[in-house]
Amino acid sequence: MKIAGEWDVAVVGGGPAGLAAAVRARWVKGHGAMGLKTCVFEPGELGGIAGWKPMMLTGPSWREKEDVVPGRLLKDMQVLDIPVIAEAAAEVAPAGNCWSVITGGGARHLARSVVLAMGLRRLCNERRHFGRAVTVFFKGAEHLEDLIRRAFVMCEGKDLLVAGARETAMFLPLLHRLSSEQDTPWRFVTLDGWRPGGVETIPGVIERIDGVHPPYRFVIGNEWERRIIEAGGALIDYFSFERRPEISVRLPDDLLRTDSGHVAADRLNRCNLPGLFAAGDITGPYYAVTRAFGDGVCAGLSAHAHAYEMQFGAPPPLFAYAVTKGDVSPAVPLNHPGVVITPLNLKAEAWDEAQSGRRSRQWEGDLANLLRARPDGTPLAALPNPSANAGRNPDELREALERWIELRLICARLPIPAEESGAGERNHG
Ligand SMILES: Cc1cc2nc3c(=O)[nH]c(=O)nc-3n(C[C@H](O)[C@H](O)[C@H](O)COP(=O)(O)OP(=O)(O)OC[C@H]3O[C@@H](n4cnc5c(N)ncnc54)[C@H](O)[C@@H]3O)c2cc1C
Repeated sequence: MKIAGEWDVAVVGGGPAGLAAAVRARWVKGHGAMGLKTCVFEPGELGGIAGWKPMMLTGPSWREKEDVVPGRLLKDMQVLDIPVIAEAAAEVAPAGNCWSVITGGGARHLARSVVLAMGLRRLCNERRHFGRAVTVFFKGAEHLEDLIRRAFVMCEGKDLLVAGARETAMFLPLLHRLSSEQDTPWRFVTLDGWRPGGVETIPGVIERIDGVHPPYRFVIGNEWERRIIEAGGALIDYFSFERRPEISVRLPDDLLRTDSGHVAADRLNRCNLPGLFAAGDITGPYYAVTRAFGDGVCAGLSAHAHAYEMQFGAPPPLFAYAVTKGDVSPAVPLNHPGVVITPLNLKAEAWDEAQSGRRSRQWEGDLANLLRARPDGTPLAALPNPSANAGRNPDELREALERWIELRLICARLPIPAEESGAGERNHG
């Protein structure tokens, strides 16, 4: 299968955990530390659940509005020009010493590190329908009856779709009672195949919602088919996903899970398989934006360190205050044999900023344009080799490249060897 993309760090999921991981892998703190080639897979809207209306960041004595964390992360994603692949990941599998991420559309990407940050379930465009076509269980148990009643009322007599899993069984009596009280039927969208008796059940996930008033059109997809169902609204049972996440990605059998099906990770957000990391809700309770954000930062740095060490044989000097002198490779491995220069940021403003405030040499502008002319991120080989850059002072060239690396405009990396591209047994030696 053709390789659609090659990354140092691939992040699956664009919620607060995934965005924080991607931003950190690209913007690592440290004097001269190098950002890596990073991407995010997200079929829905960036920001995950943290971008929804009722979201609050709370401490005992303060609260911040919902867009504080995702808003800032989205800005960083833009400034750093991190590519978003708007497809769901369907499978993460070993490929030599690396990992392959295969999307639902069949595209295959290779990555040295993969951060799993899929939250409790895959989202679609439901954020913009929240409070109208979509109701969610998110308050304490004492509010449940009111929430379910409101979901039935909002359907204006059309069916209610309840999306959940086998844990939804505990709400069945309540659903049946309120359905008959409100004289509104309901159907069940099952994520794990569980079917409540006597209720029409549709296997799959909600992939898209269209419409401005009931009936709305829900696109429901599963492995075999995609159906459009008209309904008055959807009630999403988050309690069931908190007990058992809906993981829509095929993961390696030997990846360690918790008893509840969450992905197990250590304090550095490393999974039991080298090169796989996990952050946020997918790792289990407690479910909070601040926790997902912190986890993402940690996972991003761990994923960076792994991908860097795989290439250059020593850990990167990620923090200016870490004791690094003498026991690590240089932060910017420009002289490493086989290294190629890869553009990370293609935005004109970012390059203009790099040139402003200093006397810019003509060839620097030409070189910047040459790099930016590669929007697919294909590397420019042999740049650090002075003989390939006749007429330029090698020290000046190196100085310019180091500055661009520091500004996260380019990185110096080793291409993933061709033999890694055939999915096969992992060999992490
Ligand atoms: C209704 C509700 C209200 C909440 N209120 C608060 C609150 O007020 N304060 C608070 O701190 N926390 C709150 N939380 C918890 C908080 O929202 C989560 O802990 C946080 O969003 C988790 O971040 P995450 O990145 O791990 O997951 P998510 O935010 O769920 O993001 C995961 C992302 O991964 C994507 N994804 C899933 N599968 C795939 C795939 N196969 N391929 C690619 N992408 C995929 C999803 O589409 C999603 O965008 C609330 C949660 C809910 C459900």
